[in-house]
Amino acid sequence: MADDYDTRDILRPLVFRLHENVPEIVREVLLERGWTEFDKEEQDDADWNLYWRNSPFRMTDHHSIKPWQRLNHYPEAVRITRKDYLARHLKRMKGAYGSALYEFSPVAFIMPNDYVKFIAEYSKEKQSVGRRPSYWICKPVDLSRGRGILIFQDIKDLVYDCAVIVQKYISNPLLISGYKLDLRLYVCVTSFCPLTIYTYEEGLVRFATEKFDLGSLDNICAHLTNTSINKCGASYEKYKEGIGCGCKWTFSKFRSYLRIFGIDDMLLWQKINNIVILTLLAVTPLPVASNCFELFGFDILIDDKFKPWLLEVNYNPGLCLDCSIDDTVKRKLLHDIVELLNYKQIDTFRRTQVAGTKAGRRRVPWSTAGEGAAGDAPGLLTRRKVAKCPSASSVQPALQAARESIRKVATLTKKSARVHPRKTLTSQLWERMNMPKIPSQAEAESKNKRIPGAGHSPHKSAQLNHWLPTPDFCNYKLTTRPYFLSDKDQRPIPRVGDFVLIFPFNEAALQASRDGTDVKSIIKEIKKLHSTCT
Ligand code: ADP
Repeated sequence: MADDYDTRDILRPLVFRLHENVPEIVREVLLERGWTEFDKEEQDDADWNLYWRNSPFRMTDHHSIKPWQRLNHYPEAVRITRKDYLARHLKRMKGAYGSALYEFSPVAFIMPNDYVKFIAEYSKEKQSVGRRPSYWICKPVDLSRGRGILIFQDIKDLVYDCAVIVQKYISNPLLISGYKLDLRLYVCVTSFCPLTIYTYEEGLVRFATEKFDLGSLDNICAHLTNTSINKCGASYEKYKEGIGCGCKWTFSKFRSYLRIFGIDDMLLWQKINNIVILTLLAVTPLPVASNCFELFGFDILIDDKFKPWLLEVNYNPGLCLDCSIDDTVKRKLLHDIVELLNYKQIDTFRRTQVAGTKAGRRRVPWSTAGEGAAGDAPGLLTRRKVAKCPSASSVQPALQAARESIRKVATLTKKSARVHPRKTLTSQLWERMNMPKIPSQAEAESKNKRIPGAGHSPHKSAQLNHWLPTPDFCNYKLTTRPYFLSDKDQRPIPRVGDFVLIFPFNEAALQASRDGTDVKSIIKEIKKLHSTCT
């Protein structure tokens, strides 16, 4: 064989690795996309592209990450997903940047430490004449799915036997046909340094299945919107007027509902995006780790004045499929996450690293396939190497088409190899993938000051579906970087599927998130935005 690699190497599918208890839908989506599952017995430890687990990775996993690999958690993401940690961070930010900006989270006390402070607040509220009675909610700090939650008005009803937070209960929630609801918003952080945040336009509206009633605080199906609780309630299957059966809507349906009533949902969403950014700024910087991403589930409650409140941030937001709405939203969400991760269909880095190791073939260090970088830290790509890394993905039909094209390229290569013996199939593909940027595109980009949505067109989204390098692809490639790698000259893609970039939101925010996060400058920019939407 004239070449070191044959077409089977080039078409080697991407490999996913799942830890125990990862919801089945993750496997299904990756298989749908033509990926294969990692086999410990047959494959090397480095021979996977995405490792998904429900619990944090060990630091050694982060340290040994290879350029072609991604992990679905950042170290210490738990800083915002544990209720007490979140409360502490938000309180600190409130102190530093003013309560006007950080008043989106209900006042909270961490028990037992804040017991005295809570009593003082409780008494103050109780004594203030003419005020509506206050209600409180007590939640275990590290439990989820509504477990161990208690709502109370009178302090004598407060009992707990583990670490909890006591939070002001939002007693005037937005109701639809008398039912309480909250939003499960999916947020993907593709990099904490520089901070890069996407929110998902589609999501879940979760309803309580009994009518809201402050006279029955112990009716959890009226006060908690967790699906795990409501699906066991007597009214879950029943048709509920104005809501329907079950306990979920999509965001799309909710938006249509709001529009029918003339409510400006754009303004609401802008406020929610601010909440997401301000919350994530509270835990920035996290320890530097490359090739990670984090999918958070933000729980947002809207009150009857259309003010959004942050209730909590979930680590591993539930990906179980309880109903058809879950299937619609979560399946597309996972597909879009994989798109967002910017994998290339041709796994060249991994191929050059591991091709033939088990079969006893020549092992080629990945750095020699890209640029010489013998001394680089694992998991970090230099800009020149990144430029060598094509980005796009596709599902089965595209793969099928690709096989055909690869066959053609292979035939061509065989012919040209006689004339230019040093030009291998691999090197030809490299060349085609690294065509220079088209100048007009570069000019257009530099004019795009406001990033989200900038330059986005259906055409650009469609480009995501083709992986063979075309002139368009090369153009596209140079505008869509592997954002999870810090590269000072690069900017993240504004939209992928239903993921919309919300941070950085303008040039100033972009600058302030480079070389460490300049929280002060970012907050200044947010205050400007904030003043336009309050
Ligand atoms: P868990 O992690 O157990 O789901 P959450 O903080 O998300 O805990 O609370 C569960 C549910 O309780 C929420 O989905 C919401 O319906 C309700 N809830 C929580 N906190 C508040 C609050 N401060 N005001 C009103 N409702 C709340």
